[in-house]
Amino acid sequence: MNSENERPIVVWFRRDLRIDDHAALWHASRTGAPIIPLFIIDSELIATLPSDGAAFDFQAGALRELEDKLRLLGGKLLLLRGMVVDVHERIIRQFQPSALYFNRDYEPYALQRDERIGSLYRSREIDVRTFKDSVLLEPDEVLTGEGKPYVVFTPYANAWRKLPIPVPFGTPRRIVVPRFASEAIPGARELGKAVRIAEPIFRGGSGEAKKRWKWFLSHGLAGYEQGRDLPSIDGTSRMSGYLRFGTISVRKMWEDLAQAKCEMTDANSRGHRTNPTIRNRQSAIEKFSSELIWREFYTAVLFHFPRVVESNYRQEFDAMPWRINRKALDAWKEGRTGFPLVDAGMRQLNRTGWMHNRVRMVVASFLTKDLMHDWRAGARYFEEKLLDIDTAANNGGWQWAASTGVDPKPLRIFNPRLQAERYDPQGDYIRQYIPELRDVPARYIHAPHEMPPLVQEEAGCIIGKHYPAPIVDHRSASAAYKEQFMKLKRGSVTRVEE
Ligand SMILES: Cc1cc2nc3c(=O)[nH]c(=O)nc-3n(C[C@H](O)[C@H](O)[C@H](O)COP(=O)(O)OP(=O)(O)OC[C@H]3O[C@@H](n4cnc5c(N)ncnc54)[C@H](O)[C@@H]3O)c2cc1C
Repeated sequence: MNSENERPIVVWFRRDLRIDDHAALWHASRTGAPIIPLFIIDSELIATLPSDGAAFDFQAGALRELEDKLRLLGGKLLLLRGMVVDVHERIIRQFQPSALYFNRDYEPYALQRDERIGSLYRSREIDVRTFKDSVLLEPDEVLTGEGKPYVVFTPYANAWRKLPIPVPFGTPRRIVVPRFASEAIPGARELGKAVRIAEPIFRGGSGEAKKRWKWFLSHGLAGYEQGRDLPSIDGTSRMSGYLRFGTISVRKMWEDLAQAKCEMTDANSRGHRTNPTIRNRQSAIEKFSSELIWREFYTAVLFHFPRVVESNYRQEFDAMPWRINRKALDAWKEGRTGFPLVDAGMRQLNRTGWMHNRVRMVVASFLTKDLMHDWRAGARYFEEKLLDIDTAANNGGWQWAASTGVDPKPLRIFNPRLQAERYDPQGDYIRQYIPELRDVPARYIHAPHEMPPLVQEEAGCIIGKHYPAPIVDHRSASAAYKEQFMKLKRGSVTRVEE
């Protein structure tokens, strides 16, 4: 065994750019056969992806680190550009592999692609093995007693928590690769993608992911429950981009959380039950774990109902008279609505490729409820800008905000001013992303249009000149939304175009 002349196993990397606890790589390495660590720059997909160039630079950083790590194992990355089927045909011709190994992806596009590639290998009598890797429990593992998918989060999470969770596999010590020539790793420029995100929040690969995770475990987690809703502080893990490209293993994250939980239980049994720090940390671990379960819930929803990518989960909303108001949509995209929290969120997104979760909910509610704009336009804009873009979570988040999705409360309408007063009381977050509001006194920061003219002059912010007045009246917009909602229920609706 372990001979370079043996037929190799192709390990196809996709959304799993790491060597630590990588299910497919681990299993391939255990066979002792030579391995071809393959990554394909899918030219068909790249042409259709709306993503900002910063997403491709982020991917390139992760690939460079993967390449370095593979070299430390004695291996090398084979990167090829082209149509996925053509590349695999080439691989089969050139290397006559004994098997194809890859980690499963549950998005509709990926499922179709993988089915096609699997059939190609099988038709040449080459073994195909796929593995669970990006989630702890797969969509088909968490089903109701009748074997149906859950469409409400709480019972899903209750069922999820009763099932056994896999532990990490580990990292191969050494791999053998055959001889091959790889193409260079392309960044955004080489792929013809313009970079508009000036200060990307995520960079690098598994090294950065591990560093951030370690920092969060020791410094961020304890305050997560209290801090996770405050956009002005670094109060959440910011692991979403790393989870999206798989530069960290979710199994490892879960194991670390379980370990932290054990430490808390030990501290309790030593009589520290009343210690508020320990209590906070315990409930923070529970809260954070449940966010990872939300990720799996939306993955399952998309897997079981792939039509939600383009359609309302609740089909009665197909008749919703969404407005098409391009001017308002542009103001929302550019952060010029006159609602400071909404504008700060959109500017954070445009500048960094990430937005705080609380603010994602507010901007999505504003677009769909205040502007009554179709959620699909918002989801598409997020696809263009988010560096952590994940079809399942994005679709789930948008349909939740628009009340068209699973687990809905139809008349949930966020008041952007009240949200700002509650979660950014001094306006620190608003000032960070809207420089024209920097000197606005705290009492006007959530409604700058209410500043008297003299205060506007003192703050260097003239409404209508430096910063817009609100583009809608929230109260009447909410009333209009509610009215449409009732009409929809009665079945008498009209489509409004502006
Ligand atoms: C309209 C809208 C669009 C969204 N689009 C995306 C997206 O494209 N990609 C994405 O990863 N998340 C998305 N989310 C969910 C959430 O906003 C982000 O996961 C979170 O802000 C990422 O920051 P974090 O890693 O610091 O989160 P933390 O609070 O630290 O959470 C840890 C991890 O749990 C997962 N998670 C947390 N909240 C959710 C959630 N509501 N749904 C699914 N997974 C969750 C993420 O993987 C996250 O990294 C969206 C939410 C909304 C309301």
